[in-house]
Amino acid sequence: MHFTRLRLNGFKSFVDPTDLVIADGLTGVVGPNGCGKSNLLEALRWVMGESRPTAMRGGGMEDVIFAGTSSRSARNFAEVSLQIENADRLAPAGFNDSDLIDVIRRITRDAGSAYKLNGKDVRARDVQMLFADASTGSTSPALVRQGQISELINAKPRARRRILEDAAGIAGLYQRRHEAELRLNAAEQNLARVDDVLEQLA
Ligand code: ATP
Repeated sequence: MHFTRLRLNGFKSFVDPTDLVIADGLTGVVGPNGCGKSNLLEALRWVMGESRPTAMRGGGMEDVIFAGTSSRSARNFAEVSLQIENADRLAPAGFNDSDLIDVIRRITRDAGSAYKLNGKDVRARDVQMLFADASTGSTSPALVRQGQISELINAKPRARRRILEDAAGIAGLYQRRHEAELRLNAAEQNLARVDDVLEQLA
């Protein structure tokens, strides 16, 4: 399972549809300051379900939409799609029935984000889980931001443990445990209510 193409449309400085083909081996992106190298990495993080605008160097998520320049007007939406090759069928269970996996995230002003997985509408959580179970995702330590190395050196042990857990692919299990606990609490509250009603009827 590996990423083969990143397509940006209206995302930050990439106003026109732009394809980044990710071939086998090492891919280098070089260019002058401000040409959009970090925006590419942010697009990758964003399509994998990043939910914190600050991780996109913005104040709100809509800041990822092309904001316009003196010669071009602002766009109303941004879209990033990520193509993943899955010929080796190593994708996590539930996503493993095709050779290619296509993930699309689109944000429209005033309407928020929408995701598609192989053409089907899905929730942010489904996309986040796909990548968490594959030991990657928007918080993957494989995506190194500027300044992140010094943050890591100064990090507390608990934060360092999280990096190891992400790499081991168990971050998704924590999320599932949290959701199971919420459901359990809700079920316990319902049971208590049923007991109250039974008591009143007795
Ligand atoms: P450096 O080498 O200095 O780190 P870089 O190649 O990583 O630079 P980026 O930080 O990816 O460059 O890109 C910054 C550019 O993206 C700036 O020109 C900024 O104006 C532009 N940009 C960021 N957000 C938007 C947006 N929403 N709309 C239009 N342009 C944007």
